[in-house]
Amino acid sequence: MKVVVIGCTHAGTAAVKNILATEPNAEVIVYERNDNISFLSCGIALYVGGVVKDPAGLFYSNPEELAGLGATVNMEHNVTSVDVTEKKIVAEDLKTGTSETVAYDKLVLTTGSWPIIPPIPGIDSENILLCKNYNQANEIIAKSHDAQKVVIVGGGYIGIELVEAFAESGKEVTLIDGLSRILNKYLDQPFTDILEEDLKERGVTLALGENVASFEADEAGKVKMVKTASQSFDADMVILCVGFMPNNELVKGQLETMPNGALKVNDYMQTSHPDVFAAGDSAVVHYNPTGELAYIPLATNAVRQGMIVGKNIKQNQLRYRGTQGTSGLYLFGWNIGSTGLTKESARLQGVEVDSIIIDDNYRPEFMPTTEKVFMELVWEKGTNRIVGGQLLSKYDITQSANTLSVVVQNKMTLEDLALQDFFFQPHFDRPWNYLNILAQAALEQANGNLRNDSSI
Ligand SMILES: Cc1cc2nc3c(=O)[nH]c(=O)nc-3n(C[C@H](O)[C@H](O)[C@H](O)COP(=O)(O)OP(=O)(O)OC[C@H]3O[C@@H](n4cnc5c(N)ncnc54)[C@H](O)[C@@H]3O)c2cc1C
Repeated sequence: MKVVVIGCTHAGTAAVKNILATEPNAEVIVYERNDNISFLSCGIALYVGGVVKDPAGLFYSNPEELAGLGATVNMEHNVTSVDVTEKKIVAEDLKTGTSETVAYDKLVLTTGSWPIIPPIPGIDSENILLCKNYNQANEIIAKSHDAQKVVIVGGGYIGIELVEAFAESGKEVTLIDGLSRILNKYLDQPFTDILEEDLKERGVTLALGENVASFEADEAGKVKMVKTASQSFDADMVILCVGFMPNNELVKGQLETMPNGALKVNDYMQTSHPDVFAAGDSAVVHYNPTGELAYIPLATNAVRQGMIVGKNIKQNQLRYRGTQGTSGLYLFGWNIGSTGLTKESARLQGVEVDSIIIDDNYRPEFMPTTEKVFMELVWEKGTNRIVGGQLLSKYDITQSANTLSVVVQNKMTLEDLALQDFFFQPHFDRPWNYLNILAQAALEQANGNLRNDSSI
């Protein structure tokens, strides 16, 4: 069996390793247009902020490792066309300019995503940068040495992590987002209010609910100002973090996609052509809270889907369990965890939910220290099925977002979580774990006995 894998970051690396583990005799040919594989973009902000000193640690595999497992790895090769009917691809060697046509039995599309570049006047000015791969991370670091005024466009987790990194390094940072709240996909307003207040106290300028209208450049072509409809911000450097588009031009019109171009896959990662698999940022996810397809580009989804491709490459044997889009974030001492639907995202997706927000100390007050945990639970009205949750604390409660992820994936109810067996030990929690307490409060509310502690 000859398998061609296009793209080798997280989904591709996981697919290659698992294909060769499942089918040691498979001929696996990898094409990657970059000169590196497996780069952890999640480390960019830590690298930019100087927390990660040696970027070598941001790679967990390399072409030699995959070659050692039996793959033929073609680095700096760009696949220029794919014909899923004829089952062949054309790849160009970027070093020599020569092209080859290769036939395959199975094709794996792990071509990932690329940052969205909005068509704003002045967007081509120098020092307007993207933040996705290793080369871009190095460019951000190199240019930041001479930049004091940094404007981040986009208040999702990538933009926010960069805001923190630059603010901690003493830069003047402005964050612009067209929506009225930061991190709006992951957290409801009471949580983002706390974080926005913190950002402002640290001197970050927030321009929320404002769209960038234009970028102005100096005579040398370097960006010097970012304009919205009502304000102007001086800038030595701008980083665009406004989202990602799947990289699926190669198969446009040949396979079924979502409207944004993400490839539709079944439970075994097969696209609408059974011999073509897709995983990671190029593909949709099966979103458990709604049961619908969604586009949630995360490394967690990429490695999981890549693994599933490998297990099913010859025959279907391991079914995808879907995702809740579970995320963790650390921002200025706040530990943040989120899974599934927020109250707002449920409303936007037309899911009828109810929610409760409470706070509680994570462990007893008789201990030398304790910290408040702010938490929200979101559940489907009528069934009490838990569809999402959020946690925020100075104490590291982020693993509880993983617990809630299990809860959502397994369609547990408020009743289940209210009585779920969790350990008690005063170092860590109370006789009732804070997740029990959250679900019990939610249950009281769902049953009509509204508690009056829903503000944080
Ligand atoms: C700054 C940042 C921080 C992030 N932090 C987190 C985090 O904390 N947690 C988390 O879960 N996720 C995080 N993510 C998201 C995560 O990085 C992506 O979901 C992940 O990279 C997806 O992996 P992938 O392999 O599907 O695609 P990609 O990483 O996009 O890789 C696709 C690969 O395919 C190659 N390719 C594409 N087209 C071709 C072609 N025609 N020929 C040859 N090669 C091709 C590309 O060069 C690339 O190497 C972060 C992303 C960014 C940018």
